[in-house]
Amino acid sequence: RAFNFSAGPAALPVEVLQQAADEMLDWHGTGMSVMEMSHRSREFESIHQAALADLAELLDLPENYRLLFLQGGALAENALVPLNLLGARKVADYVVTGSWSHKSQLEARRYCDVHIAATNEKKAPTPHQAGERIGIPAFTDWHMSADPAYLHLCTNETVNGVEFFDIPHLGDVPLVADASSHLLSRPLDVTQFGVIYGGAQKNIGIAGVTLVIVREDLLDRALAICPSAFAWKTVAAHNSMYNTPPTYAIYIAGLVFKWLKRQGGLAAIEARNIEKAQLLYQTIDASDFYINRVEPAVRSRMNVPFYLADEARNDDFLAGARARGLLQLKGHASVGGMRASIYNAVPLAAVSALVAYMQEFERRHA
Ligand code: PLP
Repeated sequence: RAFNFSAGPAALPVEVLQQAADEMLDWHGTGMSVMEMSHRSREFESIHQAALADLAELLDLPENYRLLFLQGGALAENALVPLNLLGARKVADYVVTGSWSHKSQLEARRYCDVHIAATNEKKAPTPHQAGERIGIPAFTDWHMSADPAYLHLCTNETVNGVEFFDIPHLGDVPLVADASSHLLSRPLDVTQFGVIYGGAQKNIGIAGVTLVIVREDLLDRALAICPSAFAWKTVAAHNSMYNTPPTYAIYIAGLVFKWLKRQGGLAAIEARNIEKAQLLYQTIDASDFYINRVEPAVRSRMNVPFYLADEARNDDFLAGARARGLLQLKGHASVGGMRASIYNAVPLAAVSALVAYMQEFERRHA
C-alpha cells in the first residue's frame, strides 16, 4: 500500500482495515455484517460498550464526563455548541487561530453574540510573504467578555498547522475545544475542558461519527430550539441511541481504540508522533527550498503545512510524490502549498520516505 498523508478522511491502521475486511461478511459467527445489525441488538451493544470502555481507558476519562457518539461532523457541532451551552447567556467567547476556529465563530453568530477574545488572523501570512510567523496569541493578551457562556478554541488547526500544547485556566468559564485533528494523538487532561468534540475521520476512524466529550454539569444548558437528536442531554440519556447511531463508524472506531491500546496507549503513540514530526520539521528547517511559517513552539504534530520556495514547482513535486506512492500531499485550497498530515496511523517509514523524496527533489532542482 501507498503512504497516505491525507488530512481527512485519513489513513487507517492496516491491521484495522484487515480486521474489518475479515469480519465484513460474518461478524463473530453471527452470519451478519456489523452494517446489517440492529443498533439495539445484543451484538451491536457489545461493540458499542467495548468502544466506550476502551475510549474511556485511553483518555483516562474522569467519572463526571460523558462520551457521546453523534452525527453531523465537527461543523454541525459548531452550531450545536451554542445550542447546547448558551442557557440564559447571550455571549460566547472565541479564540481564532486559523481557518477552523474562524468557521466556528462564524457559525456561532447565528445563535449568539460572539466576542473574539484573541486572534492571530492579522498575522496569518500568505505563502508568498516573508512576514511574521503564525502563532497563538499569548494567554496574557486574551481578553474575555464579562460573562460568556463558554470559550471556544480549536486545539489543532488542521489547515494552518497550529497546535495548542498549553491550555489556559479560565476559572469557571467552560472551555470548549474542537480537537478533531489531534484527539488521541497524545494524552489529554480532559478536566481542563467542559466539552471536547471532533469528527472521527482523522485519528478515531471513519467519517460519519462525531465524538462529543461533555462534562455532566453542562448538560442542562441547552436552548429549547436545540434539535432533540443533537441535544447532548437527550443523547446522553439514551446512551447515544436516541436515534440510530452511525453503527459501522462506531465499530471501526472501536477497532482503532483496540489498536491504540496495543500500541501502548496515548503516551506511546505520542512518542512516535513526536519523532515523526521532528523528522519532518527538521528537514523543512534545514533547507531554504522548503518553508513552514508556524512558530516552532506551536507547530502541529499532526498537520505539517509547507511551501516550496519556488511555487512554480508545486505540480512537479506532487506528481513525483504520487509516482513514489506518497499520496494526498496537496495543501488545503485556501492556503495552497503542501500539507503532510501525519496522524497516528501514518508510520515513521512514511515520513522517512517523504523526507527522502523532499531531499532528492531539492537536489534535482535547487
Ligand atoms: N474542525 C477541524 C479542526 C477539522 O480538521 C475539520 C475537518 O477537517 C472540521 C472541523 C470539519 O469537520 P467535519 O467535516 O467532520 O464537519
